[in-house]
Amino acid sequence: MIIDGKTTAACIRSELKLRTAEFEKAYGKKVGLAVVLIGNDPASQTYVRNKIKGCEEAGIRSFAHYLPETATQEQARSLVRALAEDGAVHGILVQLPLPAHLNAAEILAEIPAEKDVDGFCAENVGKLALRESGTIACTPLGVMELLRRYRIPVAGKRAVVVGRSNIVGKPMAMLLLNADATVTVCHSRTRDLKEECLRADILVAAVGKAKFITADMVKEGAVVIDVGMDRDENGKLCGDVDFCAVEKKASYITPVPGGVGPMTVAMLLSNTVAAAERGEKA
Ligand code: NAP
Repeated sequence: MIIDGKTTAACIRSELKLRTAEFEKAYGKKVGLAVVLIGNDPASQTYVRNKIKGCEEAGIRSFAHYLPETATQEQARSLVRALAEDGAVHGILVQLPLPAHLNAAEILAEIPAEKDVDGFCAENVGKLALRESGTIACTPLGVMELLRRYRIPVAGKRAVVVGRSNIVGKPMAMLLLNADATVTVCHSRTRDLKEECLRADILVAAVGKAKFITADMVKEGAVVIDVGMDRDENGKLCGDVDFCAVEKKASYITPVPGGVGPMTVAMLLSNTVAAAERGEKA
């Protein structure tokens, strides 16, 4: 079965629209998300456009801030600092990657944990590890939401996550562990990746290499989640999984595009609405 992230994300946006309308009625203002884009990276420009469009569809007010490629560290920091103080802004997103001369960690550190809708700051990462409530990174959260909505059981299953980045692999592994899966995390130094992958009931690929997971690495009936956003030999968007071959073995599989990608944006919107509700109640 092909897991339809596009339709699921649209469904989440319409659920959020009801919540944002309630919020506006209760507090006399809209849920607000500030999006900061620094420089001219074309992929980042597309991501930011999609996020702003998603905001419109979910009834969230977006505040887009563009800084030039030549922006200084201090300009970027003071913009984020101002947004942190702004009562109309409930969530702040700094689109990564930043131009090479900027120190991303220092700029992200200006975002207070309660407005960190990406779930990247140490406080939110720590809360996830401690199984406390906080904001969770959007992409792995989107994967869990797909598993939940498709009623795919996780507890007791053997999950293998390929990739250990701070934004996808590690929080993904933590979420699966918190959901009682038995989790293995693989990376570039893993000795026998194929053997590890073959053991997976749930296989999550977050590597960043086109069609890297081939059919011989997948157990019959496994659930295969493809986080990758890569380009094939013809420049066409594809995932980390060789979809055509793996589809025949998997019980469930996410396509690229139309799988995890739209869920990332939906979870960003969901995290923003939750941050606004928490912020105004506090
Ligand atoms: P990343 O930071 O580059 O991490 C890639 C991970 O893959 C690393 O942990 C790396 O291991 C591991 N890896 C690389 N080569 C490997 C190999 N030969 N065998 C096993 N593991 C290997 O990438 P990321 O930010 O996590 O993103 C991963 C993919 O997801 C990319 O295609 C990205 O575009 C996509 N993505 C999609 C969304 C979405 O919304 N759908 C969101 C974020 C990212 P080491 O740690 O040992 O180097």
